[in-house]
Amino acid sequence: MSDFPHVLPTYNRAPMAFERGEGSWAITADGTRYLDLGAGIAVNVLGHANPDLVAALTDQAGKIWHVSNLYKIPQQERLADLLVAHSFADTVFFTNSGTEAAELAIKMARKFWDHRGQPERIEILTFEGAFHGRSTGAIAAAGSEKMVKGFGPLMPGFRQLPWGDMEALKAAISDQTCAVMLEPIQGEGGIRPLEDSDLKEIRRLCDEVGALLILDEVQCGMGRTGRLFAHEYAGIAPDIMMVAKGIGGGFPLGAVLATEDAASGMVAGSHGSTYGGNPLACAVGARVMEIVAEDAFLAEVGRKASLMRQKLEGLVDAHPDVFDAVRGQGLMLGLKCKVAPGDMVNAGYAQHILTVAAADNTLRLLPPLNITDEEITEAVARLDKAAGSLDG
Ligand SMILES: *Cc1c(COP(=O)(O)O)cnc(C)c1O
Repeated sequence: MSDFPHVLPTYNRAPMAFERGEGSWAITADGTRYLDLGAGIAVNVLGHANPDLVAALTDQAGKIWHVSNLYKIPQQERLADLLVAHSFADTVFFTNSGTEAAELAIKMARKFWDHRGQPERIEILTFEGAFHGRSTGAIAAAGSEKMVKGFGPLMPGFRQLPWGDMEALKAAISDQTCAVMLEPIQGEGGIRPLEDSDLKEIRRLCDEVGALLILDEVQCGMGRTGRLFAHEYAGIAPDIMMVAKGIGGGFPLGAVLATEDAASGMVAGSHGSTYGGNPLACAVGARVMEIVAEDAFLAEVGRKASLMRQKLEGLVDAHPDVFDAVRGQGLMLGLKCKVAPGDMVNAGYAQHILTVAAADNTLRLLPPLNITDEEITEAVARLDKAAGSLDG
């Protein structure tokens, strides 16, 4: 037998394996407890083994797991009702991941113009540093060298503009633009938020030419910023929005939310998925929504975020050779580093704390949204020790 890894080696994995989790803690087989500020990349919004989610999952698991979308799925309807009630959207399509949501968002936008008799109107404007997933469409949309190299020819119809460059957007957008697609806060790109005023201006520019606004809230949505969806801060609404990561609390689930108008080209047969929105995923997703969409829960996220941010500002001041600045919104926080963020991640492992590196030299802190005040204090103390090991 070849000694090639039986798991395709596309990841640079850390050597730890976690056997179980409790809230904000991930625990290895030998009982070592790591404070989890990665939350599976912004996924475990209610922490590990949350009793409400375990109950929702096991209750559904004892009834029926999967039926396909050939039949009505009440759990899916319930989750769609909740998402529509708490957002701009009139309708929802369920996927298994953020990438699949991005694919549908792109298809829906193209279909919209085809349906209106302008099938040539396909150009989608995106931004450098974007991340929309790893499908051929999603890498074409983001366009970064690292993701697209060797996978060509790429799907045509995307143009990347410099992040946050409103002049470039004004020059590029026209009555031939299909849509503008962006993350209100870039995640993989390095926790790079857009000014509320810029998001408002993008909405206005889209309206001016009739282009659709597609927001990718896969990472910044589901309460992460202290609002259910990050765009709410700017007081605008998209036409189409992708959600995933936090929506299943750890169970694979994604969704595309859309207005009735934006979805008007999609009819029976236009799109589909075998698993998308199956009873297990939606039973868990509905429970996540019931908890996370509560005003009191979101207010707590905001309060904890202020506490954490204030402590992180102190951390940056204490380690001026390691850190440059804190950025982000709510509990989607980044530490812009002066060292390689991967070195900070590794130094964190030595202190039994999990963080995630991102582009633009940024260390990401994406804790469970129900992290406690004590755990925030403990996390910053561990980051302080980790940074101390890297001080120049
Ligand atoms: C993670 C992510 C995706 C892709 O989601 P997957 O579930 O990994 O397919 C898309 N967009 C953004 C903003 C993301 O953070």
